[in-house]
Amino acid sequence: MSSTDTNIKCACECGATTFAANGTPLFRLICHCSICQRFNDAPFADVAVFRAKDVDTPSKDSVRYERWRPPPNIRRGTCVSCGAPAIELFHPPLLPKLTIVPVRNIGQHEILPEPSAHIFYESRLVDVADDLPKYQGYWSSQLLFGRLLMRA
Ligand SMILES: [Zn+2]
Ligand SMILES: [Zn+2]
Repeated sequence: MSSTDTNIKCACECGATTFAANGTPLFRLICHCSICQRFNDAPFADVAVFRAKDVDTPSKDSVRYERWRPPPNIRRGTCVSCGAPAIELFHPPLLPKLTIVPVRNIGQHEILPEPSAHIFYESRLVDVADDLPKYQGYWSSQLLFGRLLMRA
């Protein structure tokens, strides 16, 4: 997959919040943490992680950002029209800035890599029967995230 000249259209559920990715995701994860559960109103979040510079942020008046507790310090943006998750901005210390996009907001699913793993699996609401590695606990989930980032 070439990351040149990609223009991947992204949109929230209602279509009022739109933005484009200009590169392919670094990796994809399925997160079962309790914040993702509440933020997505779903048992888990299936998300693609991009370099922030590869994603145009949606116009300011279409998204409302909130920081959820506890950290990591992710600004989670929901569409002001439909209230659905739109985009998440993650600026980890000493690391490249990242933009996280729920995969259901990504128009072209063929550009998505397979998920690398499940993380925060200990707080799952549902068991998932697949062959992906399942990381439990804060540190092992964070370490995996860091490893995937280094590899990308
Ligand atoms: Zn919307
Ligand atoms: Zn999560």
